[in-house]
Amino acid sequence: MVQTKRWNVQTNKMTISEAAALLKDGQTVAFPTETVYGLGADATNETAVSGIFEAKGRPEDNPLIAHVATKKQLTSLVSSLSPIAEKLIDAFTPGPITFVLPSNGTCAENVTAGLSTIGVRLPDHPVANKLLKECGIPIAAPSANVSGKPSPTTADHVWTDLNGKIAGLVDGGPTGVGVESTVIDCTQEIPIILRPGGITKEQLEQVVGKVMLDPALANVSEKPKAPGMKYRHYAPEVPMWLVEGSSEKMQEVINDQRVQQNRVGVMASTLTSHKLEADRIISLGVDIAEIAANLYDALREFKDGEIDLILCETFPETSIGEAVMNRLKKASTDYLKE
Ligand code: AMP
Ligand code: MG
Repeated sequence: MVQTKRWNVQTNKMTISEAAALLKDGQTVAFPTETVYGLGADATNETAVSGIFEAKGRPEDNPLIAHVATKKQLTSLVSSLSPIAEKLIDAFTPGPITFVLPSNGTCAENVTAGLSTIGVRLPDHPVANKLLKECGIPIAAPSANVSGKPSPTTADHVWTDLNGKIAGLVDGGPTGVGVESTVIDCTQEIPIILRPGGITKEQLEQVVGKVMLDPALANVSEKPKAPGMKYRHYAPEVPMWLVEGSSEKMQEVINDQRVQQNRVGVMASTLTSHKLEADRIISLGVDIAEIAANLYDALREFKDGEIDLILCETFPETSIGEAVMNRLKKASTDYLKE
């Protein structure tokens, strides 16, 4: 158990310099990015990086993303950059996208989990960027949650999961996008999306033409190219079913479960949630961007002992809906199709 220091960037002028000093000293510090909160450590220091795996309980074969402040720093971690990778980097950085590129070995081996490639990202968040600039070193940072739980979109989520296990937490308010970065493999001729996220397939294709989706995203029997995609993720405290179809169908499932003495929690768009009756209803928002931003907070809201089953509406798998549905499928235990 360590004493976790917590700073608020709005009220504490020393936040960034104190947090950067801890990171440079090989300690773990959580900080906000535009996607979710990350748990950072010096990516060139193997011992520091092992502190991340330990605090999260993260499987060691799941590589970490190295976060950097500038494009120059990004290219200093890789052995080559194809013209397509360069085009994507120029178009989407800083932003919610991670580029998988050939590693040049600058980062510690446990960052890449022994792979020859490295995931690199230049976030678009004033606090993250200031911190990364002040550190001047690449910072390995997965999401700052206990492995398997929903990713943190507020400092309180991080505190719940990691207080006493990490050296510091920079509170910069709620994050914006709400789902993690898009992970795109740029080591092949045609880029491959390994994890859908903040930058959509449509946006990527506008810049480089053809972009593929890792077949494992659509077919569970395929082995995913991103090691982390094979694990159950984002799990709420109680089982969750995805329910496809109309609000009438959702209400039928709710009623059926309540007859069986199950307390039912519902997550749905604002429009749908107004038509439903259940033990607890969380309205995720009016559009898919708002739904993405509120998703993980909602998953954490349903507590074991208060709710027995969560039912969640499904959403069209276009634009950021692709990332939302990817996370919902991983978080759920069943899918009631029409
Ligand atoms: P997280 O940081 O927890 O959001 O997870 C990072 C995701 O990126 C995981 O799914 C990792 O498996 C994936 N990832 C990171 N580095 C690589 C890499 N070099 N090759 C393939 N996938 C990677
Ligand atoms: Mg994660």
